[in-house]
Amino acid sequence: MSKLRRNDIVKIPLEESEIPRQWYNIVADMPNKPAPYYSPFTGELLKPEEMKAIFPDSLIAQEMSTERFIEIPDEVREIYRQWRPSPLYRARNLEKLLDTPARIYYKYEGSNATGSHKLNSAIAQAYYNKEAGIKRLATETGAGQWGSALSMACNHFGLECTVYMVKVSYRQKPYRRSFMETFGASVYASPTTKTQSGRRILEEDPESSGSLGIAISEAVEDAATHDDTNYSLGSVLNHVCLHQTVIGQEAKAQLEKVDEYPDIVIACCGGGSNFAGIAFPFLRDKLSGSKKLRAIAVEPAACPTLTKGVFAFDYGDTAKMAPIAKMYTLGHDFVPEGIHAGGLRYHGASAIVSQLYDDGIIEAVAYGQKTVFDAAVMFARAEGIIPAPESSHAIRAAIDEAEKAREAGEQKVILFNLSGHGYFDMSSYDYYFSGDMIDVDYSKENVEKSISRLPTIK
Ligand SMILES: *Cc1c(COP(=O)(O)O)cnc(C)c1O
Repeated sequence: MSKLRRNDIVKIPLEESEIPRQWYNIVADMPNKPAPYYSPFTGELLKPEEMKAIFPDSLIAQEMSTERFIEIPDEVREIYRQWRPSPLYRARNLEKLLDTPARIYYKYEGSNATGSHKLNSAIAQAYYNKEAGIKRLATETGAGQWGSALSMACNHFGLECTVYMVKVSYRQKPYRRSFMETFGASVYASPTTKTQSGRRILEEDPESSGSLGIAISEAVEDAATHDDTNYSLGSVLNHVCLHQTVIGQEAKAQLEKVDEYPDIVIACCGGGSNFAGIAFPFLRDKLSGSKKLRAIAVEPAACPTLTKGVFAFDYGDTAKMAPIAKMYTLGHDFVPEGIHAGGLRYHGASAIVSQLYDDGIIEAVAYGQKTVFDAAVMFARAEGIIPAPESSHAIRAAIDEAEKAREAGEQKVILFNLSGHGYFDMSSYDYYFSGDMIDVDYSKENVEKSISRLPTIK
């Protein structure tokens, strides 16, 4: 492969034939494996049979796998071709604006129809469920990106799709709902009166603006109580992180073409899947000792799971129906303020990302939303893409690292994941331009209360 000259190029090409053929499972290379899951009902080790009520065997196998590589089915790879390989850009205008000696690259996952990285896993999950004879998928969505991705994937494979959408986002983002309905999904503002979990929340707080934890409870309950219906999650779980590793594998191949390797890899972190996607294939080199690099997960100050949470066993959802995982958590019933990065409002984080963080293999940082939008607008004006509020957390950190490199006079190579575009988030931009946007911190008191209700396991 002939090298491209990095200073002549803005968009680094990759052939369709270079779409990865396997997903990379970092569990194979971790010094400390993520803890197994426990049953929310018995507090005992979760048996694969218990997962069968809501997941197909193939995904349960991936969830528990310690194999280093897992084959991507041809049917999935075929659909990936519609938008993959996704572009890798050099942010030359941003570099100039910052007057930094750092070279900044970003992988753009907003180039597919749903506008975020989530389609990478949605397609795979819909495929495996279809293969298992399932008729309908139930899921939750925060900001709407996951619901959009799963709606499109279900439509492709002829599955029905029921989406429990966090109420605050349902109100803020009506076009997301229209998007999902265009692909045939049924969308409900969560908490709903359709499920026991939803009704219980509404009894306590009829004005509840919802949370991802609550919406997950509703979707899990829906799936568990219907034989032909499975549950699908857009982040957090090992198999979701696994599916996203096409991002980092492609980025690695693209950087190789310009003879680069990142010193720093950055992504925003809600449940951890896009961070996993871009970082894990590089962390493989760090874990094997062949490369040194920093990987930084960026979270909102209003929901600072890694930087302010505890590493403990906790429920994946508010109603204690999802498995108990050992993860960084703010407590399963912690409900963060309604910030504009709705996709980053989850109380916990991927068990794998959490373990890597606890082992000091990765870093984390948290930012308030005003400084995140400052970075978003700066990036948009320099690079011509309006980023999702979630992704803008990664941009903030990338800019800060580039400025540090300038102060130190260091030629750092910075890679970040632009997990999605912000074209459905223009009302958030309006709000920012109005000058009324405020930085909301998390409530320490609420976190302490919530953490006092962590489960005990046997
Ligand atoms: C959902 C979402 C996120 C957060 O989810 P992760 O699983 O942490 O990646 C980040 N960015 C965008 C654009 C999203 O849609």
